[in-house]
Amino acid sequence: MPDDCIFCKIINRELDAEIVYEDEHAVAFKDINPAAPVHILVVPRKHIPTLLDLKKEDEGLVGHLHTVANEVARAFNVDKKGFRVVINCGADAGQIVFHLHLHLLGGRPLLQTMAKGRGV
Ligand code: 5GP
Ligand code: ZN
Repeated sequence: MPDDCIFCKIINRELDAEIVYEDEHAVAFKDINPAAPVHILVVPRKHIPTLLDLKKEDEGLVGHLHTVANEVARAFNVDKKGFRVVINCGADAGQIVFHLHLHLLGGRPLLQTMAKGRGV
């Protein structure tokens, strides 16, 4: 783990976050700057910087992150009305934290666009 990774610090409880789910392989916590009423980040405990850094052996882990997103979506009651799961990869996508994470967004109608930011 790199010393300066915010999400590793959250996972290791060195930095505060509102954790809403955790298991052996994944942790989910509220985004500090929510873009929707429900904005949860689902992260692997393993430090993987970006989607491009995935190895063949991580395929199961990425599937698991989506199962966790489903579980959190149900827990936050956005499963019936719908929600969006987003992974930003690299500069043009606006990735600012280089520890792989799924954004789970819901709780209001989301724009019919792939644009990121306040307009998601
Ligand atoms: P990215 O643009 O890298 O996909 O998104 C990173 C997300 O992490 C942003 O939505 C940002 O608000 C969130 N974030 C950044 N720093 C922290 C933090 O210290 N705690 C929490 N809970 N979220 C953070
Ligand atoms: Zn990390």
